[in-house]
Amino acid sequence: MSSVTVRVPAKVNVQLSVGPLREDGYHDLVNVFHAVSIFDEVVAKESESITVQVTGDWSDQVPTDGSNLAIRAAQALAKHAGRTYGADLVIKKAIPVAGGMAGGSADAAGALVACNELWGLGLPLEDLMEIAGDLGSDVPFSLMGGTAVGTGRGEQLCELPTGGTFHWVFAPADGGLSTANVYAECDRLREESGVEVSWPKLNDSLMEALGTGDVYALGSHLSNDLQVAALNLRPDLAATLDAGRQHGALGAIVSGSGPTCAFLAIDATHARDLAGSLTATGAARTAVAAHGPVQGAILV
Ligand code: ATP
Repeated sequence: MSSVTVRVPAKVNVQLSVGPLREDGYHDLVNVFHAVSIFDEVVAKESESITVQVTGDWSDQVPTDGSNLAIRAAQALAKHAGRTYGADLVIKKAIPVAGGMAGGSADAAGALVACNELWGLGLPLEDLMEIAGDLGSDVPFSLMGGTAVGTGRGEQLCELPTGGTFHWVFAPADGGLSTANVYAECDRLREESGVEVSWPKLNDSLMEALGTGDVYALGSHLSNDLQVAALNLRPDLAATLDAGRQHGALGAIVSGSGPTCAFLAIDATHARDLAGSLTATGAARTAVAAHGPVQGAILV
């Protein structure tokens, strides 16, 4: 096999509840991930060493050295297999970088699936999930896709059945936000307010809305504990969220650690109209309609 292509989706968190800061510096989370139809593509070709090139939207913001998550994933897989392997990885980016949509994690998951195939390792998904968990909290979900609850740091996943397809609009913002900075701002704001932080808990009404495919109920139960912190760091996002609500979004939240804004639409036509309105009015520079849930990293 000389070349393998994998397609891997972005995610939005339909619930992101952040518990108290732990001694190890992480937070316990209840994180409901939902994979949506904005895809990065990872191509792996036979080579002597592991390298990466990045093309497409946002490519100038992605490192191509050993800090690239796709390279780290390929290296971790080779180490797991106990051999020295090479692969030239080409990432075609469509997922916003540092946008709260797990773009780097998607590329890591894509590289795991692509190299597993290219190198003929035939490792089962459980093995890839284990390697993925060591690479980052969001990487296992990028492999799995669909809709899932993540607990612990977010990496312990349980798949959730959903009762239909949901339609979304995503408005990426210029200049990303660092996930670590958003968590730090969240901790700072909590300390300042002095309010005791409760243990995160799954929202039963949200589960029911997902299970029955009730888009109106889902819209009213979307929640993100990082949103206040993201808005504090990027106050301009509040106007984008408001504009989406004014144009009929059933729910408007910051995606993960932001700054991408996510809007839940009634259906596919409403999503297209909403995306058009957000850009036409200047509330967002770009806005992309997408749907979920979609499959995780797959060979194409
Ligand atoms: P999350 O939603 O998982 O918190 P994010 O979507 O906000 O993450 P990423 O797009 O994953 O953020 O990028 C975070 C940082 O990781 C970027 O600033 C970038 O420098 C680095 N990075 C390393 N590898 C990649 C990659 N393959 N694609 C995108 N970013 C990468």
